[in-house]
Amino acid sequence: MTLPICDICAKAGVLCNACELKLKEGRISKLDVELSKALYEVGGGEIGFEGAIDTDKVIIVLAPKNDIGKIIGKGGDNIRLLSNKFGKQLRVIGTGDMESAIYDFVAPAKILGINTVYKQNGEITKRVRIDKKDKKKLRMDIDEIQKVVESVTNDKIEITFE
Ligand SMILES: [Zn+2]
Repeated sequence: MTLPICDICAKAGVLCNACELKLKEGRISKLDVELSKALYEVGGGEIGFEGAIDTDKVIIVLAPKNDIGKIIGKGGDNIRLLSNKFGKQLRVIGTGDMESAIYDFVAPAKILGINTVYKQNGEITKRVRIDKKDKKKLRMDIDEIQKVVESVTNDKIEITFE
């Protein structure tokens, strides 16, 4: 398992020079640090994640596929505990390929397809086509989804409804 900070820091709750520098340089956030400590405590050092993003409504936790279940915990115990601690809902999203990340972000809305669009200025955008009947099912604002997906995957995306 891996955390944004090293295990020793997660366990001790105090940052070593290397982790302090990561925080200072903005490679990790305060939220990453706090969540690392909380998850270390909850999982006894067995649970990892890659990073967390604080949006208006939820905290998005990005984690490798095999850590998702552990973060959620038995019957959702861990995620409930963490939500209480951070005062916000947490959503765990699997990292890996960007298409499955997008599916996770918009669920339970249904994706009709994802197309790669080559713009005239040389930019490449992924167009995510969602069934317009499912628009109300989105749990985040479209802008927010776009922003988060782009920061996670480094791909530009554009959400359209059909
Ligand atoms: Zn450290």
